[in-house]
Amino acid sequence: MANTQANVGETVLEIDLNALDHNYHFLKSRISPTTKIMAVVKAYGYGSDAVEVAKELVSLGIDYFAVAYAKEGELLRNDSIMTPILVLHTLPANFDVLINRCLEPNIYSLKILKEFIAFAEKENQKNYPIHIKFNTGLNRLGFSEKDIEEIAAILSKTKSVKVTSIFSHLAASEDLSEAAFTLSQIEKFKNISELLIQKLGYTPLRHTLNTSGILNYPEAQFEMVRSGIGLYGFGNDPKFDSFFRPIGSLKTIISQIHEIKKGESLGYNRAFTATEDTKTATLPLGHADGISRIYGNGKGWVTIHGKKAPIVGNVCMDMIMADVTQIDCKEGDEAIVFDLTESAHSMATHAGTISYELITSVSQRVKRVVCRK
Ligand SMILES: *Cc1c(COP(=O)(O)O)cnc(C)c1O
Repeated sequence: MANTQANVGETVLEIDLNALDHNYHFLKSRISPTTKIMAVVKAYGYGSDAVEVAKELVSLGIDYFAVAYAKEGELLRNDSIMTPILVLHTLPANFDVLINRCLEPNIYSLKILKEFIAFAEKENQKNYPIHIKFNTGLNRLGFSEKDIEEIAAILSKTKSVKVTSIFSHLAASEDLSEAAFTLSQIEKFKNISELLIQKLGYTPLRHTLNTSGILNYPEAQFEMVRSGIGLYGFGNDPKFDSFFRPIGSLKTIISQIHEIKKGESLGYNRAFTATEDTKTATLPLGHADGISRIYGNGKGWVTIHGKKAPIVGNVCMDMIMADVTQIDCKEGDEAIVFDLTESAHSMATHAGTISYELITSVSQRVKRVVCRK
């Protein structure tokens, strides 16, 4: 449970539940009222707080959750979240956790299908919900079209499991220059799912759109869509970003200010040398908190009193130093890594990565504070 007290004086990740509500309602406005939404809360709710985010989404009427691994689903169940949960990356070592905690496996290969059925039969399960994933071009996890016959034959011989949904995942839904490829994935998914439905003799839900899929290919929403990054406030495209509100604000304070004389160096390996007298601020967060070393040496920045202070020298494990020569600031003042206006997206792209990586990296050492702005 995240602390709900306002907090100053240390590094905190504020999680704005009102921003989450806003993002949920925006995504809902882009799809048909009957289409279900599966909220992707893997990786601690994209680095925020999966339980707090999930509870809020339950109060908004979310239909489904998805996590990557069984353990993440278990965390939600431990906090009394009863909504169905799809586990995207099923591993045989976790079959017992899945069934004990009513978590629903993604079945992506004949091996996993056979092994899970054997396990479910041993546990005397009837109609245990499973989700069949097809590979339509991402080439990561999923059955191929030629497996349909065998999947259907195997399923017809057991009453232990029942297919709740059929799904696939798009490789480049945010990239309109890949529209032809995406449309071919969607077409493939449509054909494959229809074939399997014919053979099953009943009609599971179908879903293939992630956040950018919802925004760019709403005609392919089928009966359910899956959103992760959109709920956390990013649209993967400047034309959509303004409709979302980032839910996370990573804030810290200035621990100490140093006056560095021209010619002096700063930090490990002396990566920064002052070309003129420079004032720096030392901040209590580093690569162990999720500020990767790629943000060092001017690639990243913090914002102090509305002004950009570039990170100078190498990022340390527990600290960064920022150039505040041009900023009127003192020890104890607030520094913002990202928030609503200082987008995690811009700093991530500036350093050559994506918002997903920066926000999911905020480590468990950083205190989470839930708020409503
Ligand atoms: C992570 C994930 C999503 C969520 O994608 P976003 O781009 O964050 O909306 C959806 N589906 C699958 C299979 C995923 O792994």
